[in-house]
Amino acid sequence: MSTANFTTIRIDSLLDALVEALDAARVNAAADSRWITAIDTGADWLLQQEEISYDFASHALKVSSASRPDHAYVANGACQCEAFAKHSACWHRAAARLIRRALAIELGRTSPFALTAPTAPTAREAIDPSTGLPYEPTQAEAAFARRFISGKTAEEELLECFA
Ligand SMILES: [Zn+2]
Repeated sequence: MSTANFTTIRIDSLLDALVEALDAARVNAAADSRWITAIDTGADWLLQQEEISYDFASHALKVSSASRPDHAYVANGACQCEAFAKHSACWHRAAARLIRRALAIELGRTSPFALTAPTAPTAREAIDPSTGLPYEPTQAEAAFARRFISGKTAEEELLECFA
């Protein structure tokens, strides 16, 4: 994680999108009670935070350990907690995915450049607020967006995580 570059995000700026992401995640994970528990615990934690630290490039969320206050987990697809080591669902990763999805939802509501922080817009998700139609990025914007997008869409990664 030496290259991580954490940005502070206020939870209240993402609240509506977070609730939407939570609803979708609970539907996607309905068949897996371990992930439902992880998602709910992650969402509870997020909603108790005023601010979070998130790295847009690696989609990592920093979570302070409850049992070891001096220790922080950095969760994206991987985590440093015991549950992850046992190949089990962990709420740190669920919380990281919820934030990633919420950012993608928020991005779809606004134009890709309405957010100050670089997020992961996709042409499919971005909606032009003036027309309500899918947003067509210019070449420069598409190049900008590609810097922050892996091969997969946020939705695909979410489904993978909660599968
Ligand atoms: Zn974890």
